[in-house]
Amino acid sequence: MDLDGSKLIITECEKCNKIIWPKCNFCDACLQKTNKRNIRDIGKIVEFSQKDQIIFCVGEFEQIRIIGTLHANVNDIFPNSKIKLHITKKSNNKYSYSFTLI
Ligand SMILES: [Zn+2]
Repeated sequence: MDLDGSKLIITECEKCNKIIWPKCNFCDACLQKTNKRNIRDIGKIVEFSQKDQIIFCVGEFEQIRIIGTLHANVNDIFPNSKIKLHITKKSNNKYSYSFTLI
């Protein structure tokens, strides 16, 4: 993952606004230049499952799917529920992804 602080960086085509991921300097649809920007951190739940007390979730943010843990009461979760992305740097320099309902 490409991160700026705790924000995820994506590229977007200047001309057709297609999101290019993994990021690339040129659009794979119309070959125009792309611009880097932070991903919007509000997305939706694609699917989730619960094991013990941990809820694992696939979230979709601007068509990019990210796997993380969801901090919520399982009874409050529905497909397509809106979620916010949180990125935390861990002590081993890796990042963990988590979501909260909004
Ligand atoms: Zn394009």
